[in-house]
Amino acid sequence: TIPIALHRSVFKASGLTVLPSILLLGPSGSGKTALLTLFERGTNAATHTSQSPIAVECSLPVGTTAASDKYRSTYDPTNQTHKKFLLIDTPGHGKLRHHALQNITNPKNLKGIIFLVDAATMSAGNGGLRQTADYLHDVLLVLQKRMTGGKAMKALKEVSVLIAANKMDLFTALPAALVKKSLESEITKVRASRSKGLLDSGIGMGEDVDDDKDDWLGETGSSEFKFSQMEEFDITVEVAGGNVTGGDGPGVDKWWKWVSERL
Ligand code: GDP
Repeated sequence: TIPIALHRSVFKASGLTVLPSILLLGPSGSGKTALLTLFERGTNAATHTSQSPIAVECSLPVGTTAASDKYRSTYDPTNQTHKKFLLIDTPGHGKLRHHALQNITNPKNLKGIIFLVDAATMSAGNGGLRQTADYLHDVLLVLQKRMTGGKAMKALKEVSVLIAANKMDLFTALPAALVKKSLESEITKVRASRSKGLLDSGIGMGEDVDDDKDDWLGETGSSEFKFSQMEEFDITVEVAGGNVTGGDGPGVDKWWKWVSERL
């Protein structure tokens, strides 16, 4: 996958910065390339990791009304055209992920973040759950920290995160409500082990007690993590199920709706 630095030059060169952007995150294998292709073309195509696009221009399907257009008359000609937005892909694993996290707040016109997960790898005892919870924990913490961060970060006011529980066509997939529960309880564990790690390493024992507190996701002192704890930091988190490929399943309707409500 191509590093984030390239994104910016692509935006500059094509003048696409003005389009509202949706950031697509998620562990590798969750279906980001497939979703990107679907949203761009409106059809499925075999995914080729080597050719994965980095930012694609997408359009809402005709007949879907963007939130910003809801007061227009049905006969307004602007309603007859597609509402465009950019979907930005990010490297999903390893070293590159750190890079992606730092750049979370970079797109100027960021309207939301889609965090794609593979609902078929979410059952307890599966490495996929821990890996996904780890990544999601870090993403939410970066967003939470923008409240205490520099000016550029603060400019990004409310943030909406959609946890898109993918692969609902598979019978091994957990339903969205269970994906939510599993992630919440796994993030609870991630949070606990991270703070224990800090204590063990001696970080946070000295003067910088505040810094330690800043690395705690969600409500301070809470024993269980809940996504609703992010609201205090102007971050709304929703979970919705869907599937990019496969004949039977709910499809991507709920995700389209979520996107349209943010444009
Ligand atoms: P990425 O690494 O996040 O970009 O994931 P890909 O888009 O490459 O998808 C990983 C694999 O999951 C591919 O084999 C896809 O065909 C498959 N996949 C993606 N979405 C779905 C889905 O909704 N259902 C099923 N059954 N497979 C999917």
